[in-house]
Amino acid sequence: MYSSQGNFVTSRMIRQRLPKVCVAVTGADAGEMCDKAETIARDNPFMEFRLDYLKNPAIAYPKIKKLLETRPEIIVIATCRRAVNGGKFRGSASAQADVLSKAAAAGCQMIDVELQSAKSLKRSEWEKLRTKAAVVLSYHDYKTSKKLDETFEQMKQIPADFYKIVSTASSLYDNVMMMKLLERESDRYSMVGLCMGEQGIISRVLGVRAGSAFTFAAVTPGEETAPGQIIARDLRDIYRIEQVDAATKVYGVVGDPVAHSLSPLVMNAAFRRESVHAVYLPLHAKKLEDLLECVREIPLHGLSVTMPYKEEILEHLDNTDELSTKVGACNTVIRSQEGRLYGFNTDVNGVVAPLESRMNLRSAKVLVLGAGGAARAAVFGLKARGAEVSILNRTPADAQKLARKAQAKTIKSTDLKKLQFDVIVNATSVGMGNDKDSPLAEADLKAQYVFDLIYSPKQTKLLRMAAAKGLHTISGSEMFVHQGARQFEIWTGKPAPVELMQQVVDKALETPIPEANGNGKQAKKKAAR
Ligand code: NAP
Repeated sequence: MYSSQGNFVTSRMIRQRLPKVCVAVTGADAGEMCDKAETIARDNPFMEFRLDYLKNPAIAYPKIKKLLETRPEIIVIATCRRAVNGGKFRGSASAQADVLSKAAAAGCQMIDVELQSAKSLKRSEWEKLRTKAAVVLSYHDYKTSKKLDETFEQMKQIPADFYKIVSTASSLYDNVMMMKLLERESDRYSMVGLCMGEQGIISRVLGVRAGSAFTFAAVTPGEETAPGQIIARDLRDIYRIEQVDAATKVYGVVGDPVAHSLSPLVMNAAFRRESVHAVYLPLHAKKLEDLLECVREIPLHGLSVTMPYKEEILEHLDNTDELSTKVGACNTVIRSQEGRLYGFNTDVNGVVAPLESRMNLRSAKVLVLGAGGAARAAVFGLKARGAEVSILNRTPADAQKLARKAQAKTIKSTDLKKLQFDVIVNATSVGMGNDKDSPLAEADLKAQYVFDLIYSPKQTKLLRMAAAKGLHTISGSEMFVHQGARQFEIWTGKPAPVELMQQVVDKALETPIPEANGNGKQAKKKAAR
């Protein structure tokens, strides 16, 4: 039998004052690792030192000792993950235990030992280790989230101060399984649980409220030690992890893909500004059913729905507003207390609101380019405001079908020469993601306003040509903000902080859209957490 004694006083003390975020610190040598730790300590006093990343952990101890003596507020988990368990340390389990003992002697208050190593140590070795520091017994599954319960049963056989179980999410529902385990076991055991991968973000943000004593984060982009790891600053500032508790309402954007969506940035900023106790997550669902299974379990209070689910979601809703039905697409869902799902289309507001703030739409002559989802929202929204709408689309049959449904007109491209409009709305995808394509030639831009629904790039070729001709231009970023503002209002019943939302979008569009969170090859190659 193992003794359950361990380093009881240290572990209890540590548990009581642990911050929610532990930042993984790596470095080529001990000097670099300790310098980094010193720089980030003010905002991130809780760190994990990845000793397995060091060329020679043996020469690191004096530097670690000096750092921890001069900065007593720093709490360190020493980890020396063995290569066979996903780390970089090539030594045996006993050699690993030796490194960790010495790290503890240098002042590291906690040490991480994999379940596989713990099993191969003699009981006396294990118990000795536990007298040195609080022990985090860890298990990592780099492929799946299967067998969480069985794995935890094995872990429980070995006494430890913390039980850390990390799996890989291949669906959103894997997060639910992880959080159920945390909820069930965290009353009796000090647990740390999360799912890796882009789809693991739910557990990285909500795991702490399900019972995880803390979670892991990266120092800066590019320094992730596991796929899906979020930057510590983003966990605090965007997702406000320190405030996440049982009362936090959860919202999200569902799509495939969603990694590049600006919605989490904008919506979380809006919640924060308006003191809404809520968090908004990117939800990458490879199938809509996966999302629907999570809606009630997490629970999710509201959803932004993006490609490719705007149409498919309709059949799963209890009711929809008139515009969603007309447009045949829904981009906003709210879940009632009883669990009913109601759908709205706020893309319509996204097109209409920026125009209405500039002009009276009644009898305005508007040309809509395109006949896809965005064009349908534009046409029905503009018709509802009394505008005279003409549609031009590459595939004329689709334009005619839309025109019939919305009681609008269609035109041919050869008509453009003789026509003048108040507004031209580009609802095609031509010009998206590049600065050289335009749906119309400069000579055909005969309108007071040109509104390009594309928001990336912010200045499309179409808008540049229009501005050069002296026409007023409206960027798709305004549509993005106004469709989101209406969602905010539907969910919270409060007016949305539109100006702030626009600032956040504009700032984000100034910088290139980053790599998917930890989904990059680089992150995958790195040792996992
Ligand atoms: P969609 O349903 O796929 O429709 C695409 C439309 O673009 C169709 O009418 C299609 O014509 C036309 N098109 C595509 N390639 C073309 C080409 N090479 N030449 C001429 N026409 C072409 O897409 P959507 O959801 O409506 O989105 C359209 C645009 O709106 C996208 O760029 C999207 O970024 C933007 N949008 C912006 C917001 C926002 O918040 N700002 C929201 C939603 C959408 P065919 O019918 O002939 O295929």
